[in-house]
Amino acid sequence: MVKRSFTYLSDINLDTLNGLGDKRYSLLKRNDLFSITDLLRFFPKKHIDRSSVKLIEEITNNDINSEVTVIAYIKKVSVFTTRSRLRITTLIITDDTGVINAKWFGPQYIESRFKEGERVAISGKPEIKKSGTVEYKNPTIEKFDDLEDLNETGSLIPVYNKLEGITSSSIRKALKQVFNIISTKKEDLEPGIEDVLPDIILKNFNLLNRLDSLKGIHFPQDKNEYYASRRRLAIDEFIYLRVIFESLKKNYKKQSKGFSYKVKIDEVENYIGNLPFSLTNSQKKAAFEIFDDLKNDYPMKRLLQGEVGSGKTVVASIAIYSTVQSGYQVALMAPTEVLCEQHFKSLKSFLGKSGIKQYLLTSSTKEREIIDRKIKEGEPGLYIGTHSLIQEKIKFKNLGLAIIDEQQRFGVDQRKKLITNENTIPDQLVMTATPIPRTTALSIYGDLDITTINELPPGRKKIESHLFNGLESDNLKVFEKCKEHLDKKSQIFVVCPFIEESENSDIQAAEVVFQEYTEKFTKYNVKLLHGRMSNEDKEEIMKKMIRGEIDILISTVVIEVGIDIPNASLMVIESAERFGLNQLHQLRGRVGRGNKQSECIFHITKKKSLTTISDDGRKRLEAIVLLDDGFKLSEIDLEIRGEGKVTGTSQSGKSDLKVANLRFDYDLLSESKYIFDSINDEKIKSKILKEAEMFFPNYFKVESST
Ligand code: ADP
Ligand code: MG
Repeated sequence: MVKRSFTYLSDINLDTLNGLGDKRYSLLKRNDLFSITDLLRFFPKKHIDRSSVKLIEEITNNDINSEVTVIAYIKKVSVFTTRSRLRITTLIITDDTGVINAKWFGPQYIESRFKEGERVAISGKPEIKKSGTVEYKNPTIEKFDDLEDLNETGSLIPVYNKLEGITSSSIRKALKQVFNIISTKKEDLEPGIEDVLPDIILKNFNLLNRLDSLKGIHFPQDKNEYYASRRRLAIDEFIYLRVIFESLKKNYKKQSKGFSYKVKIDEVENYIGNLPFSLTNSQKKAAFEIFDDLKNDYPMKRLLQGEVGSGKTVVASIAIYSTVQSGYQVALMAPTEVLCEQHFKSLKSFLGKSGIKQYLLTSSTKEREIIDRKIKEGEPGLYIGTHSLIQEKIKFKNLGLAIIDEQQRFGVDQRKKLITNENTIPDQLVMTATPIPRTTALSIYGDLDITTINELPPGRKKIESHLFNGLESDNLKVFEKCKEHLDKKSQIFVVCPFIEESENSDIQAAEVVFQEYTEKFTKYNVKLLHGRMSNEDKEEIMKKMIRGEIDILISTVVIEVGIDIPNASLMVIESAERFGLNQLHQLRGRVGRGNKQSECIFHITKKKSLTTISDDGRKRLEAIVLLDDGFKLSEIDLEIRGEGKVTGTSQSGKSDLKVANLRFDYDLLSESKYIFDSINDEKIKSKILKEAEMFFPNYFKVESST
């Protein structure tokens, strides 16, 4: 004897149910509801609480704001039409403890559907008249033979997303039929639904079994049952995601990258020993994790994440060293030219001694054609560039490793383009300083292994954060702070309001700020940098800033990523409430690179203060001044933005989580990890995978098109 499984039930079409009819069936199909499994997983949007069932004499003034269900019989039916032709149907209903006057306004033909003497359940918000009579206006009413059959009243009533031509009531009826069928024995089928999780796990983690959770999410007896059901189903979804990614990774690891590393561990240790500083433990660990991965026969796919300034570049340099020494090309793609140049410079200081050739491809590169040729001919070395690296005409002949810095700025497609290689599959290293909470990491980078640097290089001082409002006295404080830093011969970054409409308005706003600072600090060199300037001009200004020739650099958000200027010790973010939390964190990380005590000022837009900015803006600012942990901030950001969707490539409903919510269910996510890890039986895992394939088909499409 076996129980019906989701797979089994997905082969049973909904037209086998009684009372659905061809018309309703085709409407359901139009909404992707084909089978019993589809219907079971068509979860309610909400429940209306009609679970409070009372005798009429028990109804008091305390009940007038919530729905009360009464089980009674009809004493009298009457219809009355007002002079303005409004039809009012009144049923007098009693349960022998009191009387209810129930009234319907308008043509609802209640009088033709209900007769004197019939037993009914009626739900509504009661009104208590001065005379003491209870009155219901437009209540929900249904007849019944057996209390068990109540469909609209008497409990938590599920309400479903509107489907054209199908009422929630008919969904409820169909579901009740389904639960009836499932609970009956038939030939060699046992009552119940096959659960993929074994009893021992259900018991250890206090989980409802599958049938109970499905019943409980649709027709809960009370809220606790609903929450317990939801918990089980959300955990299932997280487990599906895990099993999907595990399987994608496994398949990926079956591929061969078709080349091998010749570098020995002592060479790498020697390289590390020759670096200008010693690595932190966290960097060492990360470096060897990557090195081990490079040596595998299958291509590496790894995310290297770590706080701003945690020193990811030098870790990447170890992978670069190993790859180029083995005779292959490395491509490093960064989002801006300034950043490419900085990488070029710092990597030169790391890799220079080992004789590794480095090429920089920016718009100002002179020997462009020569470098392009080297790329095509397979000349080993490190090639650094912006997305110009992935132009159609550039084809690496001998690419061993593709590194993508600040991944959040690039689309998935760009990542894929870079790794397309004619001969072999290169290793992939993706770096990001926007730390990603585990949940999002799971959804966005589920196919990558993750290495985290969770330690900053020694000697870094904590950056002091200040929140200043836009009112007169605080505006002055901002200038006073600037003065303090200038007196210490430090440099200052001022980042300007981010204005959503257009880049032009960003620039205008920056010009206003530039004006202010120039007038205030006449003795200092104040410069403006914005996105519309030519690359040469931008570059010139950045170079001057790096050389310490600029005291105050006013800029639009172009300096957001990567640049490293140890002598800059003050960051002022104007109209800080307009920036995203990750962006604020990134910007703050631009200072605090040297040994000076650094500060960051979050300055609210002129004339505004915490109480007059948007709620979200206030929450972000409160979080940023309090916390300097990028991971936490990232989670809070997610919460504020309310991101709740996990998708494959399309937003199509079928690939989304139906129950679990990334915004609220962190706890369930980590619980799901424990549960998943405690499953050792491969048979169980493959069953879960089979269900996951059925419920999240898009993930599988994504990978096969890579
Ligand atoms: P990010 O992780 O933000 O990309 P970088 O790689 O740019 O950080 O490193 C930030 C700065 O810290 C660089 O100037 C780098 O040379 C320096 N650095 C990195 N690792 C160490 C270390 N172990 N000791 C001292 N300085 C380090
Ligand atoms: Mg970096």
